[in-house]
Parts: sequence; C-alpha cells; structure tokens
Amino acid sequence: MAFDLAVFDLDFTLWDCGGTWCDCTRPPYRKEKGRVFDSRGAQITLYPHVREILDYCRREGWILALASRTEEPAWARELIGLFGIGDYFSHREIYPGSKVTHLKRIGKESGVPLSRMVFFDDELRNIRDAAALGVTAVHVAGGLDWDVFRSGAGGRGGSTP
Ligand SMILES: [Mg+2]
Repeated sequence: MAFDLAVFDLDFTLWDCGGTWCDCTRPPYRKEKGRVFDSRGAQITLYPHVREILDYCRREGWILALASRTEEPAWARELIGLFGIGDYFSHREIYPGSKVTHLKRIGKESGVPLSRMVFFDDELRNIRDAAALGVTAVHVAGGLDWDVFRSGAGGRGGSTP
C-alpha cells in the first residue's frame, strides 16, 4: 500500500489538551521553557512520537495535511504555532462539520486521489466517514505513536522505521 498524502486529526491524535479538546481549553496560552499551558495552567502536549513521525513523513516526501472539526479554529491555529509544527502541513482544514468536507477539500486542493491518502483520527465516526470515501482510515487510541503509524502507513517500500 503506498500513500502520497497523510492527514492527521489534532485533538487526541497529535496533541492532548490536558485531557480535553482544544476548544475546551482556556486561552490565552503561554509557552514556558518549551512547554505550553492554557490560562488555567493545564499543560497541552504533543504526543511523544509526533515530531519524529512528521519528520519521517517529510523525509519520505509525503504531503501532510490537518483535518480538525474543532469549534475554535483560531485556538487550534495558535497551538500549532506554539508547537512550531505548522510548516509540516501544506493543507489545513480546521472548522466544524463532517470530515467528509475536510478530506474532499484536501483531495481537491492537493490533486491527490482519496484512495492514495491515509488518515489518522481518534474518533470512530470520523474513521467511518473517511473509510466511506475510500480513504485508508486508521483509528488512533491513546495518541499517535509509531505502532499505530506503522499499522496504517507501513509497507511503503519497506522503509517505514
Ligand atoms: Mg480527535
């Protein structure tokens, strides 16, 4: 199975907003010694393997995209900036609604067929929506890590670490 493009959800896939969703945090955010907190002091973290996985995808020449249904897109964008991960993603679809919309737009803008995309998300309804479009949809339980990444994206030229 070869993919040209990987799409990632944000909440509970790339990051943990202190046990909740980013739209349930309370800005303003602050960065202290490399760590990100909301105004109540809840720490927001990327899951430990996320940067390595994004670096790997970039080295492999994959197109990377974000698809989030958050009710607070501006907050999500600010967190993306605070974590310094914005440059990885050439497509960012961040707004409420069905991920069918997000994925179709990513397909249209990138020119990559939906059948050549892999999508990672923690919510089963999103997984079902993506699969119905013909996207390879990978359920993430407990945050993106190498095991789940390999389970979805593995086999590409045998070079997945
Ligand atoms: Mg999520």
